[in-house]
Amino acid sequence: MLRRFDFKPTSNDPGFQATGFLFGTRQPIGPRYTPKMIRQRSLRDVPAPIAKYLRTASVVRRLKVLDAAFTDTGLLKIITDHLVLTIEPHRTMKFGPETITAGLYFQRVIERGDLIDAVVLPHVEDGSHPIEAFWIDIRYVGASPSDGWGTMKEDGQFALRAKAGEKAERVVTRLLRDTAGHTFEEGACETPGFFEIRSKDKRIRRPDRICTCCGMTVEVKKRNHDTNFVVSHSDRRSFHTENAAHGVHAFVFADMQPRFVANSDIARALVNGRYQNGQGSHDRWAEINPDAVRVIDAPRCAGAMQKAA
Ligand SMILES: [Zn+2]
Repeated sequence: MLRRFDFKPTSNDPGFQATGFLFGTRQPIGPRYTPKMIRQRSLRDVPAPIAKYLRTASVVRRLKVLDAAFTDTGLLKIITDHLVLTIEPHRTMKFGPETITAGLYFQRVIERGDLIDAVVLPHVEDGSHPIEAFWIDIRYVGASPSDGWGTMKEDGQFALRAKAGEKAERVVTRLLRDTAGHTFEEGACETPGFFEIRSKDKRIRRPDRICTCCGMTVEVKKRNHDTNFVVSHSDRRSFHTENAAHGVHAFVFADMQPRFVANSDIARALVNGRYQNGQGSHDRWAEINPDAVRVIDAPRCAGAMQKAA
């Protein structure tokens, strides 16, 4: 009698790469993030190449997002390299203490080319697979499994927030590149496909976004819950010493459409006292009165225009 292969150890056990060995698929080494609510169910991990045959809810990782759309019935359809996934956009997903709908998560966090992990159900008639939840693939760098597991509890929420910021930056740099002729360093406009967490230091160091042709800087501010023009500003680190006068700020609100405001415009509003001060545990900021600044079109690249002339 054939012995049925048991996929265990379960998804939250770093030893699960054994399935990669058995199926000849390459699985990344190291701990894999799984939200707590799903970890508790001990779903098995099924490698993406054979996931279309799965018979019970399973975790499938590193599905590459190629496209997404809404179906006639209002489902969010995510087309990946191995499976076509569907989920109700209003379905809620929980990452640490944060709850977010599937539709918002996708809009805020996911980019074409990203790898996602998902809780996948068996396929339905048309061959697509309903999913219960999905999240950006989290890659741990410099973390041994023992390092990673201690902190993994909130990593989904951390990734949700930080990846949303990264997506907003790339939305802005792509727009400046494609509609205004600016040039950015390699990688500034494209997603690496995953979210990276370094074991020791969870702070993210974002490089300044600067056009390599005309030198215009762009500072991206992602705000999910309001449409306020909030900038970093304090006595010790004042706005005008931290931001080049000829640069711009790009505010990206929930609709993901960048609003550009010239740094010189913001500096003038600050000098004229047309702002409110704010203070958090780590930083200070200024909320500019909305009628004190002007939203402008993406500024054209001066360098590119000179070359063209
Ligand atoms: Zn430029």
